[in-house]
Amino acid sequence: MKTHYEIVIFEGTESDPEEYSQIACGMQVVNKMTKYSDQVTCKKCLKVIQKRVIASLVTLGNDGIGGAKMTSNKAENSKLILELLERSKLK
Ligand SMILES: [Zn+2]
Repeated sequence: MKTHYEIVIFEGTESDPEEYSQIACGMQVVNKMTKYSDQVTCKKCLKVIQKRVIASLVTLGNDGIGGAKMTSNKAENSKLILELLERSKLK
């Protein structure tokens, strides 16, 4: 059985405990889902997680692990992203 990734869109507060979330791969009903990316086994969900990680690394910029400026060169960009991922693992 696959474990899907649950993305929390709106976390419940004390006054409004209702929590809104969706499945990363777009499925409506799943048997198993988790908020923890390391427990996810659905390949589509994993792809979404990867994209989100990369996007957050790029957005984090200098506050986080030291962002990289994206260039118009695709190969150059993926190299930069790999570097960012490496650096984030070290922290
Ligand atoms: Zn999934």
